[in-house]
Amino acid sequence: MSGIPKALGRYVKILGGDETPNYLACKKVAVGRIPDSLDEKWALHDKVVAELRTGDGFGSAGGHGNADPGKPDVSLLDLKTSIASDILRKCEFCERRCAVDRTSGQRGHCGVLEPRISSEFMHYGEEPELVPSYTIFFSGCTFNCVFCQNFDISQSPEGGEKFPVEGVAHLIERREEIAKNVNWVGGDPTSNLAFILEVLAISDSAIPQVWNSNMFLTEKSMKLLDGVIDVYLTDFKYGSDDCAKRLSGIENYWEIITRNHVLAKEQAEVIVRHLVMPGHIECCSKPILSWLAETFGDTVRVNVMAQYRPMYKAFRYPEINRSLERHEFAEAYEHAVSLGLNMTD
Ligand code: SF4
Repeated sequence: MSGIPKALGRYVKILGGDETPNYLACKKVAVGRIPDSLDEKWALHDKVVAELRTGDGFGSAGGHGNADPGKPDVSLLDLKTSIASDILRKCEFCERRCAVDRTSGQRGHCGVLEPRISSEFMHYGEEPELVPSYTIFFSGCTFNCVFCQNFDISQSPEGGEKFPVEGVAHLIERREEIAKNVNWVGGDPTSNLAFILEVLAISDSAIPQVWNSNMFLTEKSMKLLDGVIDVYLTDFKYGSDDCAKRLSGIENYWEIITRNHVLAKEQAEVIVRHLVMPGHIECCSKPILSWLAETFGDTVRVNVMAQYRPMYKAFRYPEINRSLERHEFAEAYEHAVSLGLNMTD
């Protein structure tokens, strides 16, 4: 467990009651009034966040020096929620940048209109430092991975149930005493960013927020999560744009995902998951693990995962239409260890 304080020290302090979850601190930052135009909202947002940074406000360094101790009429979290609501009308939550008006029934690539929750439950199968984790599992995803193990959920944005914002806030409140965190996942949570901010805007539970994601968000979405999320639980799949394009239908994967990992680390604490895939050790596993070591050293947790199984459409792709062999996982894992990465237990 020795790597946990180095990578997740603030998260541990929140669990011990010695730090405040970011979103609660964000609710105490006064912004005056919410401007009318989206451009003005962003200008105000960026100004307030910059001041917080300069003044050692929210963030991975901890402390909330500039936060108003009371509850303002209009908070930074209210401003973020308002911006996210505007983005729904010309959606660019993820880098597919569909520009559709989801409030008028237009579907973008992910197909998600209003949020639908496939399941919500106490998860005991996540990394030891996270369990029990109150997991809220949205239908729909911004990726189309041909090997997806949850394809019935990720590729069915109309599955699951609609929940009111108040209902989800109440569910979180009920789990507050038992769960170590709220784990926003799917599919992928990115399509539902506006809804998640709305839930947090009316929540008061002193529980860390985990963003469990493929990290294909736009920089604007990353800015909205800044000061809200405590731990990014990322899924870093590919070391090669060709593999990302062929197996998940994603362009420009490496540049976007590495950019967002750097942003995530600036904002919060990070656990990176990498699923080792058959035949993808040289092109994917090794470049990812080497980049993590060069970029973050041992300051992020890394989970090298062996549980790949050929699912969904994997039978059409010969190199991944089989289970991972023991020697393949060992090669990836030993590479991670040799780099001195901060490995999960
Ligand atoms: S979240 Fe969905 S609609 Fe919005 S940009 Fe991404 S794929 Fe398109």
